[in-house]
Formats: sequence, structure tokens, C-alpha cells
Amino acid sequence: MSILVTGATGFIAAHCIDQLLKNGHSVIGTIRSPQKGAALEAAFPDAVANKKLILETVSDIRSAKEFDQLFDKHPEIGKVLHTASPFHFNIKDPIKDMLEPAVEGTNTVLQSVLKHGPQVTKVVVTSSFVSMLTADDMFDPSVTVDEKSWNRITWEQGAGNVEFLTYFASKKFAEKAAWDFVENEKPFFQLTTVNPSLVFGPSITKPDLKSLNTSNGDIVTHALEVKDSDEGVGQYNSFCVDVRDVAKGHVVALDDKTNGKRLMLCSDKFCSQRLLNYINEDFPELKGKIAVGHPDQVEAIEAKTFNFDNTETKKLLGFEFTPLRETIHDFVAQWLEVKKEE
Ligand code: NDP
Repeated sequence: MSILVTGATGFIAAHCIDQLLKNGHSVIGTIRSPQKGAALEAAFPDAVANKKLILETVSDIRSAKEFDQLFDKHPEIGKVLHTASPFHFNIKDPIKDMLEPAVEGTNTVLQSVLKHGPQVTKVVVTSSFVSMLTADDMFDPSVTVDEKSWNRITWEQGAGNVEFLTYFASKKFAEKAAWDFVENEKPFFQLTTVNPSLVFGPSITKPDLKSLNTSNGDIVTHALEVKDSDEGVGQYNSFCVDVRDVAKGHVVALDDKTNGKRLMLCSDKFCSQRLLNYINEDFPELKGKIAVGHPDQVEAIEAKTFNFDNTETKKLLGFEFTPLRETIHDFVAQWLEVKKEE
């Protein structure tokens, strides 16, 4: 039995592959970029040599024909991790660039499994914390988001010109499409969604610092590059989880005990001031080169956001989340190493 991972070259997917291989699974990954595929293969030479990791090209997540052919070619696929979805803020057309690929991509994969993967028992869809959280509630400390919460955003709001809302809507409507599919089709396979908050940590393949994945690139790198003179230094304020825990969460999601569940993967509140404090304390060589901000403001900044309760998820996971300090340390150490080589 193999596990299919869509979007195998993604930041999170590569860690999922790492965890799946460590757990003894065979993996088939879909890719759309041969260059990124080669870099991924280079990270897992033994698995590639032993055919425990096979990459297949699917040019777009909406390509039903290519997914149908993939399932016909690999009847050994027993479970699916659908991680591929656009996550960037480079949106020209909100519907065509983000909403449609996310929603249609999810429907395409589910339809292909239904028609061409009769042996598949489980599909895990990588959703997001943002499909649980409504933007209006982000800075309301009286709000608590849990595994039953849904983002109230409408398609029209997502199709407007606020980029982060477009991403929020893409994840909400893609996840909703998956649950609606199960409700309407009553398929032979089970569904679990994994809903991570912002995902930080080192990459499996050598990261290109000019095109880092969005969560590391926009937020952790921001802490490394922001200046003390910049307005609002240290103010970025949200929720996060380590990428290695997200990958482990996807492995847990394959298990029957998670059938029908939404796993909220969220370990900590954070603000960029907290990141600055950790980086300044743990990397003395960066002292004077990065901002200091207002080190004593962390609690006050973080108190301004909503709260989360993922007690149910934590019971299912059976492992402790990695401390944020360690996540940030491992990211910055890799970032510095790559910088040195440039
Ligand atoms: P990446 O951008 O690193 O990965 C996205 C993956 O999706 C890439 O493999 C990309 O391919 C693929 N992809 C995107 N659009 C298409 C398309 N139209 N056709 C085929 N493949 C496509 O992001 P992450 O690893 O961070 O995100 C992975 C998943 O996790 C996404 O579903 C994202 O929404 C979700 N998520 C991420 C969070 C985070 O903080 N990082 C938080 C919560 C959820 P390619 O490599 O060729 O570009």
C-alpha cells in the first residue's frame, strides 16, 4: 500500500514525505516542476533508489485526466494526502489564481479517487486554521476557536481585492467542498482534514531565500529583516505550529481514529516581537544586525488576539508540540547557513 501526496514539492508536503518514509510507508508524490522534483529526490536518495518514493507529474491539481491516469497506473495507492493548494500573495485574479484551483483541485482529487481508486480507504485534505477563523474575530480576545468553528467569510468577500481574505476563502471553500463531497457522495473512503495555523520551521530541501514558502518567508524572515526604525516593528500577531509537527499530524490523520475529524494543529500564540526576542537571545552573532523592538511588549501584544482550544486534537495526536523557540532556532540556523553560501 502506498500513500499518495499531492503537491509533493511543497514545504509541508516534503516534511510529510519525510515522516511517512520514517514510518515505513511507500510514497507516490505528484509534482509540477521537474527542478523541484529533482531537489526533492536528492533529499531522499535511498527511498528513491528503493522505489519507496516515486514522483509523478500532474501539471495542475485541476487536471482530472492526469489524476485518473495516476490512479489507474498505481492501484497500490491506499491512502491520499491532498496538500497541494496555492498559498501566496501574488494574486492577480482572486478567482482564477486562488479560489478555483483550491476548490476545484480538491473536488478533482476526490472525484478521481471515487472513479479510479476503489481501494483507497482514506483521504486527508490539508485545510487550514483560516477555514475555522473569521477575520473579524482575529483581534477579539473574547472569541475562542475550536475544531467545530467555521470561517463565516463569503465567496464574494474572498473574490474581492483583499489578498489575505482571498486565501482565507480558498481554504474555507476547499475544505467545505471536501465535507460536502462526503455528505453527498457517501464514498467508500473516509475523510479527515488537517487545519494548521501558520507553519514555521526548516525546509527538507535547501531553501531558496528569494522564494521561501509564504509562512516562513513573510513572517519569520520579516523578523530577520525588519528595522527598529520601521513602524510597528514586532507587531505581527497570530498563531503557529512547527512544520515537523504538522507532518506528524498528517501521519496521525491517516489513522481510523481521526475519521470525520478536523485536526486543529496549533501550538502557540506568537508575535514578531517574540520571534525577535528568541532570535536576539539565541543568535548572538546577529546582535546589532537585526531589530530589537520592544522586548517587554510580547504579552501585551499577544493578549490582543482571539484564543483557541484544540483539546480534542491534542488527545488524538498523542505527541507534544515542539516549543516555538526550537522551531525558530532551527529555521534561522538553516537560513544563516544558506546565506553564508550565497
Ligand atoms: P507551498 O507553497 O510550499 O506548497 C504548495 C504546494 O501546492 C506546492 O507543491 C505547489 O506546487 C502546489 N500547488 C499549488 N498550486 C498548484 C496547482 N494549481 N497545481 C498543482 N500544484 C499546485 O505551501 P505550504 O507547504 O506552506 O502549503 C501546503 C498546504 O498547507 C496548502 O494547502 C496550504 O494552504 C496549507 N497550509 C499552509 C500553512 C502554512 O503556514 N504554510 C498553514 C495552513 C495551511 P509547486 O511546488 O510546484 O509550486
